[in-house]
Amino acid sequence: MALTDTPIQPDQTPVTDSVTAGPPAAEAGGILTVDLSAIEANWRALGRRIMPSECAAVIKADAYGCGIEPVAARLVKAGCKTFFVADLLEARRARTAAPDAAIYVLNGLLPGTAPAFAALRARPVIGSMVELAEWDAFCSGQQWRGGAALHVDTGMNRLGITANDAAALAPRIRSENHGITLLMSHLVSAEVQNHPLNERQIALFREVRILYRGITSSLSNSSGIFLGNAAHCDMARPGVALYGVNPTPGRSNPMRPVIELQARIAQVRIVPKGETVGYNAGWTAKRQTRLAVVAVGYADGYLRAAGASDAAPGADAIVAGKRCPIAGRVSMDLIAVDVTDLPEGSARRGDLATLVGDEISVDDVAAAAGTIGYEVLTSLGKRYHRVYRA
Ligand SMILES: *Cc1c(COP(=O)(O)O)cnc(C)c1O
Repeated sequence: MALTDTPIQPDQTPVTDSVTAGPPAAEAGGILTVDLSAIEANWRALGRRIMPSECAAVIKADAYGCGIEPVAARLVKAGCKTFFVADLLEARRARTAAPDAAIYVLNGLLPGTAPAFAALRARPVIGSMVELAEWDAFCSGQQWRGGAALHVDTGMNRLGITANDAAALAPRIRSENHGITLLMSHLVSAEVQNHPLNERQIALFREVRILYRGITSSLSNSSGIFLGNAAHCDMARPGVALYGVNPTPGRSNPMRPVIELQARIAQVRIVPKGETVGYNAGWTAKRQTRLAVVAVGYADGYLRAAGASDAAPGADAIVAGKRCPIAGRVSMDLIAVDVTDLPEGSARRGDLATLVGDEISVDDVAAAAGTIGYEVLTSLGKRYHRVYRA
């Protein structure tokens, strides 16, 4: 039988349940793959750790760069009932993907926005007495009972009412039922296991919780989940760990990696010994050097601080299966990778180099750039061809 006559067997039809976005892969300088099943697995693993407490999901900052809509939709399917975003725009996007979920807005109530919260059925995280007053006025005027969180500051000194104010308010909140559906606080240093603030915040929040008995309480972010039962309360709010960043720095990463970032090789070139590479001539070829120039740069969110100079190495990339160092500065749209040690011809124009993947984690890139995985993820750019792996 001729090849063209081969009938398509239903059971051989490829299962293409991936969804793509952005420019076509062939035209994009970079390809970002987000593994939604890994996000779900991470959410389930965190949920098992805090059982029987509820596991919510923080999807602010475009779900840490991974995409609010696909991430929220996947977690809704997995059974997630509560989401946290930073602002109303994110709440609106989350609402399209999670029509029935509780959506809390962490930055709270900006002046005059209460009607927008009600229209979206979103819940402000009330962080000051004036916000509470404005929300109360709206709720009693409109008979709105859509819920809100009360944020109690236990040491961050950023948002949240004081523990004293929370204590003073408790009888009023209980008798008048202001529609407070969640009592929360936020840990300052949860990723440092023995940080003295952890114990202090847990203890202070416990004192407040007792006064708000019957209202769901929440303290832990991703790292807080690993501080033990006392930090779990009724609900945890993991963010970064869902997306594969290590919530226990210094120990092995219990989470599954979620993103892969590949960059297209635009050209391969030889640089003579003694020449410099890139802006400001801070990286010198110590030998005749073969470079793979890839089409991803800091405008794509690949942090400029991850570049290399003669004084300090930068991050690595995987090219043709081998780890190769970045040469010179990260430019706006390009990065040079030193592929001299690869067999000649193994890195070719059009090939893909891996900037983040199984062998180079988000945390590795963050360390090379002197920052944290959060910043690497939330910087992920808009020019990539995106693949959402189901
Ligand atoms: C961002 C945020 C979280 C999630 O923190 P991760 O460290 O990413 O898990 C939880 N709670 C609040 C108040 C936050 O702002």
